[in-house]
Amino acid sequence: MPSVPHTFDTVPQVWPHRHLLDLERLTPGEIRLLLDTAAQLKEATAGCRRKLTILAGRTIVNLFFENSTRTRTSFSLAARRLGADVVEFSASGSSLSKGESFIDTAKNLEAMGIDAVVVRHSTPGTPHLLAQHLDVGVINAGDGAHEHPTQGLLDIFSIRERLGDISGATVGLVGDIAHSRTARSNVWGLLKLGAKVIVCGPPTLVSKRWEELGVEVSHNLDNIVPRCDVLNLLRIQFERQNTRPFPSVREYAHLYAMTGERLKRARKDLLILAPGPINRGVEVTADVADCPQSLILDQVTNGLAVRMATLWLTCGNRLPQTDQAGHAQPGLSAEGTL
Ligand code: ASP
Repeated sequence: MPSVPHTFDTVPQVWPHRHLLDLERLTPGEIRLLLDTAAQLKEATAGCRRKLTILAGRTIVNLFFENSTRTRTSFSLAARRLGADVVEFSASGSSLSKGESFIDTAKNLEAMGIDAVVVRHSTPGTPHLLAQHLDVGVINAGDGAHEHPTQGLLDIFSIRERLGDISGATVGLVGDIAHSRTARSNVWGLLKLGAKVIVCGPPTLVSKRWEELGVEVSHNLDNIVPRCDVLNLLRIQFERQNTRPFPSVREYAHLYAMTGERLKRARKDLLILAPGPINRGVEVTADVADCPQSLILDQVTNGLAVRMATLWLTCGNRLPQTDQAGHAQPGLSAEGTL
């Protein structure tokens, strides 16, 4: 079991990875270390608001080929909160439109002396491909319907912050499980930490094959609501579907939206999560999205903590302690010490 770092002097020896590509291949101990480091960084930055300097001198590039509100802003802010420089790469207006390949573009960015790339792409496996071609850290910010590891981590962080422990908790993931990268990262992370996971939605969006991973499959939200400690309400990923998985959004909402009526039949302390963007009236009604048990905005704050931890563990403290003139590198400062 990895130990928790008490200072941000050095990345703990037990963190062996240069990249964060998915949760599927992390061990439970590595996931706990990420979560514990995020908790420490949240505290050290006064709830993700104060700045540290532990990544001063590092440069992070945001390479986003799909839309993003929370993830992109959150990675930028997380890097800045730790003192790193951030470059926002925008595919439109770049030389990709002149025929340059994706790998060549990334290699050119690497040649400018960057330390990590945060990549989002609609093709599953894009971050894994980049990691094979680049010598810098690669962080997956969502690859198609495959994984979104920092979303999974921030969801789990938010649950753990409230419940104290993930092990034994029953977590329902409701909605478009087939096309949701959030669902996949949650399933891997939650199972590794000992939670019971139920995936719920229409049969066209929730395959029986999930049972092979040890996940319960349900097509009836009313049956699972009273049994859950947590419900994570996932958006219908219309942009990834070729066919209509249900007759109408109205019918979907009737069967699968988390409503105030359904909340009355839930445990009093049921936690409500949603990765965002939320579609009020589709997967969740406004009264539930804004109810006291809703962690939807806490998730956003915790996203910063998790992304600070990810950046710190993957590219922290990899510079020599002194520069060529013998001056100490900016790194751990008094304000960076816990
Ligand atoms: N923001 C999350 C993602 O990028 C969830 C969603 O879009 O529904 O996967």
